[in-house]
Amino acid sequence: MKFMVDPDLCIGCGACEDTCPEVFKLVDGTSTVILDPVPAEYQSACEDAEFACPATAISHEE
Ligand code: SF4
Repeated sequence: MKFMVDPDLCIGCGACEDTCPEVFKLVDGTSTVILDPVPAEYQSACEDAEFACPATAISHEE
């Protein structure tokens, strides 16, 4: 599974990094995906992060 962050939507709140720091990392105030593709063990946490993102900046494709 591949996760993406839209840098134009991300407000840099850090919630996704708190939820899954193995995949999301804040760089200069914007979340960046640092593991691509996302290994199976982190997919559930990434889906939680996507659902919880206040800016709906996270998306994924199978
Ligand atoms: S939760 Fe959403 S808005 Fe917050 S840092 Fe992550 S991608 Fe950006």
